[in-house]
Amino acid sequence: MLAAARVRKPVLAIESFNGMEMKKYMDENFLLQTETAQKLYHHHAAKMPILDYHCHIDPKDIAEDRMFKTMTEIWLYGDHYKWRAMRTNGVDERYCTGDATDWEKFEKWAETLPNALRNPLYNWAHLELKRFFGVDEILNVKTARRIYDHCNEKLNTPAYSCRNIIRMANVNTICTTDDPVDTLGYHQQIKQDGFEVAVLPAWRPDKAMMVENPVFFNGYIDKLEEAAGTEIQSFDALMDALDVRHQFFHENGCRLSDHGLDTVYAEPYTAEEIKVIFKKVRGGNSLSEGEALKFKSCMLYEFGILDHSRGWTQQFHIGAQRNNNTRLFNKLGPDTGFDSIGDKSVAEPLARLLDRLDQEDRLCKTILYNLNPRDNELYATMIGNFQDGSVPGKIQYGSGWWFLDQKDGMQKQMNALSNLGLLSRFVGMLTDSRSFLSYTRHEYFRRTLCNLLGNDVENGEIPNDMELLGTMVENICYNNAKNYFNF
Ligand SMILES: [Zn+2]
Repeated sequence: MLAAARVRKPVLAIESFNGMEMKKYMDENFLLQTETAQKLYHHHAAKMPILDYHCHIDPKDIAEDRMFKTMTEIWLYGDHYKWRAMRTNGVDERYCTGDATDWEKFEKWAETLPNALRNPLYNWAHLELKRFFGVDEILNVKTARRIYDHCNEKLNTPAYSCRNIIRMANVNTICTTDDPVDTLGYHQQIKQDGFEVAVLPAWRPDKAMMVENPVFFNGYIDKLEEAAGTEIQSFDALMDALDVRHQFFHENGCRLSDHGLDTVYAEPYTAEEIKVIFKKVRGGNSLSEGEALKFKSCMLYEFGILDHSRGWTQQFHIGAQRNNNTRLFNKLGPDTGFDSIGDKSVAEPLARLLDRLDQEDRLCKTILYNLNPRDNELYATMIGNFQDGSVPGKIQYGSGWWFLDQKDGMQKQMNALSNLGLLSRFVGMLTDSRSFLSYTRHEYFRRTLCNLLGNDVENGEIPNDMELLGTMVENICYNNAKNYFNF
């Protein structure tokens, strides 16, 4: 009797086709397979604002309230996910990053999209067209011109300026990604303008540890000297300069850092060794691999100390193997679609770094993102080693990232976190985006979350307590991040 009452009752829009019933593509219950999932999404998740605590959009665009002339400009100019798919579809580079016209590029993208079925790009593209432009049609070669003209017309109205797109998506906080030498002038301008959405900087000091290339490194340290108004000829002077910039970022509302790492560095070193290594590289000399590793290990630790001193959160994005294609790296530079999942082992150095900071009582709130799905459970258990009862979910296993930020990757991340930690304390999704149209990824994540919970309820595996579940969903969508970061 009980089992009968628990039979799934999908309430989905139904289309009749040759006597068979099938779901409509991307209707209001997209990704929501059960009635419980639909209730959780529509009554709890959908209304929550977006706190996008990590992305790569340019604060200059928000400061200047940039308008986009064409769909190509807003959609294809900086999106290496799309370029990768187009190249795979046999599209010449001229239409990805080259000098083809905006229309030609859009047309090639529209030609590619039908071949991207089951790739998340397919659903993301249609979700963005639907939510921001009211387009219900499927994008392909036949509809490309009509959709292009329709969207361009909208983009050329003030309602589609950067700030208005952000408003449309119900975003209330954005954290950009900024270098310690950045003046943060655009952030200040946005604040002075009284824009009601908080646009805060985030500290990304990766270049301050790129000692493998002495020419690049010294060029960067020269810029840091200028930004901090001090000479940097010793390791102590380097740390003083970084501290000056860290304080400056803090005064400008920054409360979190971010580090892009192929693996975690935690080699043993002495203070004396680091002083000598710094002098050597600052003098323009190449370091041995061992010396570079010691220096990077020291910097990661010192960055952790800086973040702890001002009560920030540190984020580690770990595991990308970057710039694999030399020919195209030389032609196009980094972040153009030639990165993939790396397989360096991470458990030992990650534990060593976090443990050292913890032993000194200087481990700040930390979010770990992994890129190799083989390591999901590794990360989900690693965070448990350093929870100290001071803050709920102090050490976080970050949401599915980059190659893993689609339904499958998100589900796997949330399942690992549920099995080995507390999903309820998760700070949820971020866009990690370079585009102003990517806010729908929060919707995509929220639907996936609600669907997981809905299935569990309707299978009788968790209680049908809508108060508990509704609160949990609202927390993961927004409240947890708000309380955790405390901007
Ligand atoms: Zn990122």
